[in-house]
Amino acid sequence: MDEFSLIERIAARTAARADIMLGIGDDCALLAPPAGQVLAVTADTLNAGVHFPLETPAFDIGWKTLAVNLSDLAAMGARPAWCTLALSLPDSDPVWLEAFADGLFALADAAGITLVGGDTTRGPLSLSVTAMGWVPATQALRRDGACAGDQVWVSGVPGEAALALALWQQGRLDVAAEQADPLLETLRQRLLRPSPRNALGLALRGIASAAIDVSDGLGADLGHVCQRSGLAAQLQLAALPVSPALARFAAGEQAWPLQTGGGDDYELCFSAPAAAHDRVLAAAASAGVAVHCIGRLQAGQGVHWQDPAGRPWLPPRRGYDHFASA
Ligand code: ADP
Ligand code: MG
Repeated sequence: MDEFSLIERIAARTAARADIMLGIGDDCALLAPPAGQVLAVTADTLNAGVHFPLETPAFDIGWKTLAVNLSDLAAMGARPAWCTLALSLPDSDPVWLEAFADGLFALADAAGITLVGGDTTRGPLSLSVTAMGWVPATQALRRDGACAGDQVWVSGVPGEAALALALWQQGRLDVAAEQADPLLETLRQRLLRPSPRNALGLALRGIASAAIDVSDGLGADLGHVCQRSGLAAQLQLAALPVSPALARFAAGEQAWPLQTGGGDDYELCFSAPAAAHDRVLAAAASAGVAVHCIGRLQAGQGVHWQDPAGRPWLPPRRGYDHFASA
């Protein structure tokens, strides 16, 4: 399969829509954002062996390539609209590409984002998406909007993706095969098919004061909000949700490093005024996502954890940093 038939196969799967004047096939796409909204743009790359295990099924690679970008739009409160896809492929394997596209388009269709262009080259397996969305300028969920006294919230169950990765590294979870054990299968899905929280991000417009998506670890990512907002976070380990899978494979204290430092969850961590507590719960319910209030922001700096007895607890490691010395 040559580059052009490959692009044609991808293009055949994209639908027309009113805000796309010209999609795949010309030198650029021509796009028409609605009046009164600003464009939110983000890019994220997945490299084989770095961002996913080499044996990851192609469908899941397609899903996750888009999911990590949708997660950034969610964290900004932006409505997903368009994306581009830059593919670096070691060879043109039509079976692999079909499965990859199945995964990518399954999520794209569910999220209402349309592929409008991209680039295709030969090289080590690497997938890069640029995602675009819209948000009214005053309602974007920026990192620098938090205030002292705001409550800190997190969606979903942080730590599950990192637990899945740890079990895979220990040879206890095969990421390439459906698991007979339902808890192991839950964990496998959490690692390979993250659910970007776009509905929650939209519902939190006008309620949350700041937001970030949890890709590198809850503490590290919340640390960015603290730094940009000039505040400190006081957080309770006992307030973090514990799922059946976490309880079984990493009970009690064993879970803390995963919950506070594990990456790849693609949950939202956000702040909101204490007076908005019930509105946050209603927004989360409307989005169909569980959220937990895990602490507060106050004057100072850094992210500080307290154990269930009220003692300070220091995480064993920071979030994932590609350029940290080994
Ligand atoms: P150019 O050389 O002008 O960049 P290309 O041959 O790279 O054009 O691409 C032709 C068309 O196909 C362009 O509209 C481009 O956006 C689109 N395209 C190329 N690769 C992809 C891809 N992986 N996914 C989606 N669209 C693609
Ligand atoms: Mg090109």
